[in-house]
Amino acid sequence: MARNMQVDGGRLWQSLVEMAKIGETDKGGVCRLALSEVDKNGRDLFVGWCEEAGLTVRVDEIGNIFARRPGRFDDRLAVGTGSHLDSQPTGGRFDGVYGVLAGLEVIRTLNDHGVETDAPVELAVWTNEEGARFDPAMMGSGVYAGVFALEATLEHRDREGASVEEALTSIGYKGSEIIGGHRFGAFFEAHIEQGPILENEKKTIGIVSGVQGIRWYDVIVTGDEAHAGPTPMSTRRDALAVAASLIPRIYDLALDRPPFGRATVGDFHSEPASRNTVPGVARFSVDLRHPDEGQLARMDIGLKAVAASVVEERGLACTVDDVWYSSPVVFDPLCVAAVGKGAELMGYSAMEIVSGAGHDAVYVSRTAPTGMIFIPCKDGVSHNEIESATSEDVEAGANVLLHAMLECAQGAEVP
Ligand SMILES: [Zn+2]
Repeated sequence: MARNMQVDGGRLWQSLVEMAKIGETDKGGVCRLALSEVDKNGRDLFVGWCEEAGLTVRVDEIGNIFARRPGRFDDRLAVGTGSHLDSQPTGGRFDGVYGVLAGLEVIRTLNDHGVETDAPVELAVWTNEEGARFDPAMMGSGVYAGVFALEATLEHRDREGASVEEALTSIGYKGSEIIGGHRFGAFFEAHIEQGPILENEKKTIGIVSGVQGIRWYDVIVTGDEAHAGPTPMSTRRDALAVAASLIPRIYDLALDRPPFGRATVGDFHSEPASRNTVPGVARFSVDLRHPDEGQLARMDIGLKAVAASVVEERGLACTVDDVWYSSPVVFDPLCVAAVGKGAELMGYSAMEIVSGAGHDAVYVSRTAPTGMIFIPCKDGVSHNEIESATSEDVEAGANVLLHAMLECAQGAEVP
């Protein structure tokens, strides 16, 4: 019977519609900034639904919510799922909230069918995934996983000067559960893709194999300022001209590594930024991405070699400062396989995909075997009020989540 089980897509859609009323914007999106009154209202609605579903709700010290459905062997590690309820200031109706309510729908479906799983099942809402009001993004899952220290994080302040701790207290979600007090045996996060690949490939389900690694840099080229008129082209030490010649070679680091390599120069300025002065300094940012750690390391070496060659070929100074590194995440093979099996069982078209964005699952994966399920979103648009997904795809992703979780929650202890 469990093999034929399906979620109630209409009920899931209705829950999404109801949650989208909380913080709804004129353009059809939502504004539910983390730990605001609106976030509280969303959390309260969610907790009410969990209690109706017979779940035991606990809140930890950073405001993460855990709602538990007991298992036959209740001392086993729970099979978890979840995502976030907070949004960008001009956010959509699916980013984050989809993963939370798909998880709730899985639990409601298990209740409908009277299924007792071997392992307990647990639904998580992670605090402040977006990082729009308080830095950093993926705060709750990061504290849970020990990436960020609790005490320091509670001191972070928004632009009005309110701290995370004050905001948690004022909305009544400063819980008592010790951080990381319990772990998952396996964890799955369902999410809209936030990119165009599934739609372009006409696939319903993205079996997420991992998350791209990211390296950020500041590059500075230093030459000499000179008058734009009297100074011959041959004797100039033009920092902008040299920087401009570097940039195509930086793009090549990604273009030489299709389809996953990415290189972006997103911020560029020259000094003194005067129309009739040869620029003496050019500064720009570089963002390099690849899901394979070795490839990303080679891109890193390549960038530094390009910079060194400038010094040699053009006689100008060029420095490359490392700003940030987020290593690639490879999801657990058993969890990835469980997602693939779920899609196959339901007869959905599916493909393996690498996430270009960060998610709570990235940090959770440091503590438990983890996988993700993507569904398409219209035109790949997200972090936008017009963000959209079809009810068919929403239902399909929840069905895959159901069967992936059942795969791990039944029978032999997994992993
Ligand atoms: Zn999200």
